Amino acid sequence: MTVAAPPLTKLPNYIDGRWTESSATDWLDVTNPATGELIAKVPLSDAAEAAGAVEAAAAAYPEWRRTPPEDRIQPLFKLKQLLEDHIDEAGRIITQENGKTFAEAKGELRRTIENVEVACGIPMMMQGYNLEDVARGIDETMIRQPLGVVAAITPFNFPGMVPFWFLPYAIACGNVFILKPSERVPLTMRFIFELLEQTGLPKGVVNLVNGGKAVVDALLDHPKVRAISFVGSTPVAKYVYARAGANGKRAQCQGGAKNHVIVLPDADMQMATQIISDSAFGCAGQRCLAVSVAVTVGEAQKTFRDSIADAASKLRVGNGLDEGVQMGPVITPQSKLRIESLIGVGEKQGAKVLLDGRNSRISKYESGNFVKPTILDNLPATSELADTEIFGPVLSLIHADGLDEALVFLERSPYGNQASLFTSSGAAARRFRYEAPAGNIGINIGVAAPMAYFPFSGWKDSFFGVLHGQGRDAIEFYTEKKVVIERWAKDHSRKF
Ligand code: NAD
Repeated sequence: MTVAAPPLTKLPNYIDGRWTESSATDWLDVTNPATGELIAKVPLSDAAEAAGAVEAAAAAYPEWRRTPPEDRIQPLFKLKQLLEDHIDEAGRIITQENGKTFAEAKGELRRTIENVEVACGIPMMMQGYNLEDVARGIDETMIRQPLGVVAAITPFNFPGMVPFWFLPYAIACGNVFILKPSERVPLTMRFIFELLEQTGLPKGVVNLVNGGKAVVDALLDHPKVRAISFVGSTPVAKYVYARAGANGKRAQCQGGAKNHVIVLPDADMQMATQIISDSAFGCAGQRCLAVSVAVTVGEAQKTFRDSIADAASKLRVGNGLDEGVQMGPVITPQSKLRIESLIGVGEKQGAKVLLDGRNSRISKYESGNFVKPTILDNLPATSELADTEIFGPVLSLIHADGLDEALVFLERSPYGNQASLFTSSGAAARRFRYEAPAGNIGINIGVAAPMAYFPFSGWKDSFFGVLHGQGRDAIEFYTEKKVVIERWAKDHSRKF
């Protein structure tokens, strides 16, 4: 597909219902990872601009929270239709700034839309509960009320979907919302906020502030911000969780991952190979649910090693907008360098490079950040790399004698985002589901990404907080409970 690069834009912020040019002195280049082309300039807005967004949101809050839930979801119904109508345009923007293939970008947008659909159920989902006669003539009711100003800080790898784990639920529950998207992929939200503008949402209900750490810190410290949702790497997730907590805010912080798949000898090897190849190399491995370590058990070692190396070597790597391309570039030249150097580390720590994607050149795209699929065979299970998030198209193979030993590798991992098992044994599957120490479990599934009506779970260093994004958890996160005890009957009794 030939698509003209969008005209170079200095990206504005969206505050109080207006697109405003940032007064930032620092601007970053946004580049297309497949071509190296400069496609936009993004401002590193300062604390004052973030505070302006908080004040605009706070001013919109009293009227918005009084708007009936049925009316609050009407803009979301419009947004769903606008996203459906513009899915190709939004998908192309995602591919241009993130690098994933057009099909992957559209897949991401399907989950974005699904979150809007689920949030349209707020009039049912936000309901509380009550009980008459908790004592004679006394009734008790639990109601859910919105928090006020809430904010989300999101990563580069899902420019459309991740902000929508939060935005639709937050506003449908009656909150007002500020988004700080990743400064590496700010164009998708610029486009989606233009669609949001057409839905009739009152000014100040949703705000977009481009930037980096200064904006994050300003949101974390602002007394009017009640809740923070964060998705990104583990060190930043920990930092955001600690600082939000110290400032008395509610926080849900999703961090990095190192996901294991266990392949048992009784697995359907052809299906397992195809699915694990998609999981490890799809989105160039830049998915928090990408399989990164495959633990083969018993005889699966040889069959799986041969079949995965064959499947991975056949993947067509290139510009995600070109027909037939199955894997795009990684996000930045720095990321490419880091991934290539970690492949070298794996080699030094004892692995054999079975398939080497370093120093890849893609014709017509010499300036792209391409790393081809890479397989590290026999990575020692106790090596440092076995616990390091690479976030690129690199799959490590580890061998175990049985399911017991394989589960020990998972237990030892600092992360717990996802664990998968490939088998045809119900007993093994049940044991795995029961014991695997991760929040998202796949049985014969490579990317166990929960639908929007389930929470996006995550354990250990992959998540800090209690309530997750999406589904019912999102409603719990974005509301606080109030319990009302009422007596209207005339009689008064001390007997309970
Ligand atoms: P990142 O941590 O570099 O950035 C995430 C966000 O935090 C961005 O908006 C960025 O501007 C901001 N940020 C970065 N450094 C900061 C700092 N020092 N102080 C305050 N804010 C800061 O993450 P990334 O590279 O954009 O995304 C990739 C990471 O996200 C991977 O580790 C991946 O596993 C993780 N991720 C996790 C999930 C999940 O559900 N657990 C989902 C998607 C991505």
